[in-house]
Amino acid sequence: MYGGMDVGGTKIESCLFDERFRPLERRRVDTACATYEELLDCIVGEARWLDARAGRAVGLGIGLPGLVDHATGRALTSNLPATGRPLREDLVVRLGRSVAMANDCKCFALSEANGGAGDGGETILGLILGTGVGGGVAHHGRLVLGHNDLPGELGHLGIPGRCVAAWGLPILPCGCGRVGCYETLVSGPGMARLAGRHGGTDRSPPEIARLARAGDEAMAATMRDWLGLLAELIHTAQCTIDMDCVVLGGGLSRIPEVAAMLASAYGALRMPGRPTRFASARFGDASGTRGAAMLLTRS
Ligand SMILES: [Zn+2]
Repeated sequence: MYGGMDVGGTKIESCLFDERFRPLERRRVDTACATYEELLDCIVGEARWLDARAGRAVGLGIGLPGLVDHATGRALTSNLPATGRPLREDLVVRLGRSVAMANDCKCFALSEANGGAGDGGETILGLILGTGVGGGVAHHGRLVLGHNDLPGELGHLGIPGRCVAAWGLPILPCGCGRVGCYETLVSGPGMARLAGRHGGTDRSPPEIARLARAGDEAMAATMRDWLGLLAELIHTAQCTIDMDCVVLGGGLSRIPEVAAMLASAYGALRMPGRPTRFASARFGDASGTRGAAMLLTRS
């Protein structure tokens, strides 16, 4: 059995998996860890719960928001009080076993590449479209960690000048400290900003998509802008890693037909060659714990 844990800023989800990564028991607890010590205590408490359910100490994989130095296990995360701390090593000492750890978007990509929507592909881009935009890359079912855990972190690439010029897009400040990142216009809040430019203020992404399908011209224009920007983002990724499959996750991946719509938008600008497959996640939110557990064997 394997233990997978998805550690977020406000909750920790833990799941016990069998040897084929089928979920056996799952629970989610609210956390409000103000200090690093509290965070360690919370994670250790959940690891003990997994052990109790398994009847023995289980291997533990952890996904968390932010970057993890996979050589040292040190974390860089704005949502948890762990930046610069040797989180993985401290957990190894407290739990007395090996602990695998990675960015939560990487766990998503790993899970979807193995038994998920990207199964059977050679190079998979897992792209999470939610409050933020992140992702991960798997090659032959294994994570590509790179030099700094960065492969797939596409949200903070800059929107191309040709899009800004053609569509008169605003260049907005981003949470990363720079301006003009894709995340400012293709995340959930970004899509709402695009809708505002077409006269639809305070519209949620599901509402924008529903109105566009119902024939609302302003919201249809919003969807075209959003899909056009995403297609440019995919184009950059294609020219970098030349993936054969893109798996969409996060809240915006639940927009009906979004994978087919993006395939169509990307088809309009892609280079000649074999087509890229687009799919929405198979495991959805559960990919966080599933991919974390898979870190123990497939990274
Ligand atoms: Zn940014």
